[in-house]
Amino acid sequence: MRAIALLVSVFMSACAVAQPESIFEPIAWPHRDPVRLASGAPGPAYWQNRASYEISVTLGTESREVAGSLECEYEKNSPHALAFLWLPTPLLPGESLTLELEFAMTIPPRGRLGVYEGEAGEVFQLAHWFPNIAKYDDVHGWNVLPHEGDGEFYTDFGDYTIELTVPADHIVACSGELVNQDEVLTAVQRERLAQAYTTTDTVVIRDFHEIPAEPARDMKTWRFEAKDVRTVAWASSRAFRWDAAIAADDRPVLCQAFYPKEGDGTEDDPRWNAAVEYGQFSINFYSEWLSEYPYPTATNVGGVVGGMEYPQIVFCSIDRDPRSLFGVTDHEFGHMWFPMIVNTDERRHAWMDEGIDSFINHYSFSEYWGEPRRIGSADFIVEKERSETPQPIMTYPDRVRSGDLGYLAYGKPAYAFRVLREYVLGEDRFDEAFREYIRRWSFKSPQPEDFFGTMEDAAGADLGWFWRGWIYEAAKFDQGVYDIDPEPRRGNLSVTVANYERMVMPIDLAIEYTDGSSERKRVPVQAWTNGSTFAVSWPAEGRSIARVVIDPDEMLPDIDRDDNVWEARASDEDASEPEAVMD
Ligand SMILES: [Zn+2]
Repeated sequence: MRAIALLVSVFMSACAVAQPESIFEPIAWPHRDPVRLASGAPGPAYWQNRASYEISVTLGTESREVAGSLECEYEKNSPHALAFLWLPTPLLPGESLTLELEFAMTIPPRGRLGVYEGEAGEVFQLAHWFPNIAKYDDVHGWNVLPHEGDGEFYTDFGDYTIELTVPADHIVACSGELVNQDEVLTAVQRERLAQAYTTTDTVVIRDFHEIPAEPARDMKTWRFEAKDVRTVAWASSRAFRWDAAIAADDRPVLCQAFYPKEGDGTEDDPRWNAAVEYGQFSINFYSEWLSEYPYPTATNVGGVVGGMEYPQIVFCSIDRDPRSLFGVTDHEFGHMWFPMIVNTDERRHAWMDEGIDSFINHYSFSEYWGEPRRIGSADFIVEKERSETPQPIMTYPDRVRSGDLGYLAYGKPAYAFRVLREYVLGEDRFDEAFREYIRRWSFKSPQPEDFFGTMEDAAGADLGWFWRGWIYEAAKFDQGVYDIDPEPRRGNLSVTVANYERMVMPIDLAIEYTDGSSERKRVPVQAWTNGSTFAVSWPAEGRSIARVVIDPDEMLPDIDRDDNVWEARASDEDASEPEAVMD
């Protein structure tokens, strides 16, 4: 069997060169109309509905329940009647509706929310804690895909007023801003909070030794307001230390950390004591690179939740070393841009938030620690694509095979956008287009085609082949040296490169000459529009080729690198055999 397999693979690599032309066929974008333009921009008829909430609940620490009432103001901006609100009459364009209801929820022990059992008391982390109106949009109408777990959330923006009644010794963190500090904070805490708004050095607003010895019997109501957010989350605990400082002197975003004693650190190993600093770094880094952070607070809560993002607030697990805490904090704060500001459909397109977020995290992590994180090489893609029949990135997260979500929603798309930025478009051109995407779609809901269209529009590049190879399809990639004229022939040197698989990429050659000189050559991806082999020729100018390497930086996920190198036969015995010469 082994011999047969070997023969088949030799035969395949020699003969079965892929015909890649069809990967260049134009992609027919769906939904191009006055709502969403062919350029990828929102059109003149773009609309989205809006859902604002006033919510009032009480936390039952014994019963582990939140119970209360809400009023939802639903603004309908779509230009047609909305029949299925299950009301006596449809909701007409421009009309709004007020829903009032009472609700209660038992807090599950862990997941995207939960309860941490700290030595000084429980940490309650609350998310998805109130009845929320589904998203109705121009693409799918009511978004009625059920929540199965891996596909996250897709909701409308709105303004929130939140009243949280909790035991009087609790400290509360919530999306948005605290608006009744006079009623819930001590004079000393108010003074420290005011100080935190003036400095980038972390101020401790409530320290561990200030936690009352006996649990309180009375209750207090904390009031928060959050504007233009897609949901709100909060946390409450008597065990919290509360740290805060602004992000930068000219960026008065209050970066906060709330955590129990189990997250306390030392001078040498600061653990959660550094959480404000990590938050400041992320908020500043992404504000400067992408777009200004638009919210007044950026809060991190330590507890049972491993890592989860909500508007202006993130939950990260308490037990982490510095790199891990930085990594998860930075990832969750990266989500403030995707999907909290650029409001994508997480139920269908996890790559649009997790993938793009992991991509931006690569640069943030590298900047902070001076070395890249996990999105550093193509090897993990090569390994994965070799090992099984892969699914495309464009797979709904709940349809991704078990265990593959980290690859398909995070790692592979993050790497794809690195390739697009660092290899295909170049950093300046990519960044200009990427920022345009964020400008166009901040506080709106883009579809995948709006991202693709904007990147092409603003970069001035046809990238259909890239979206098709990397995102729509699970195409494999394999270039190899097919033929070579290492000595001048009619005055020219020539390297013929073959494309053996479906994915196409530009050709990147490193050439070493026998005279010791060397150079790099780049051939645009259009080399492959008319066939699967391409001869790169250039004037010899008296030189001969000693060595050629395709993709010398190993940036591309080439599933067979053995045929990427050609070396002239040397006279000494240690020299390697020429590889993949087929003339
Ligand atoms: Zn994430």
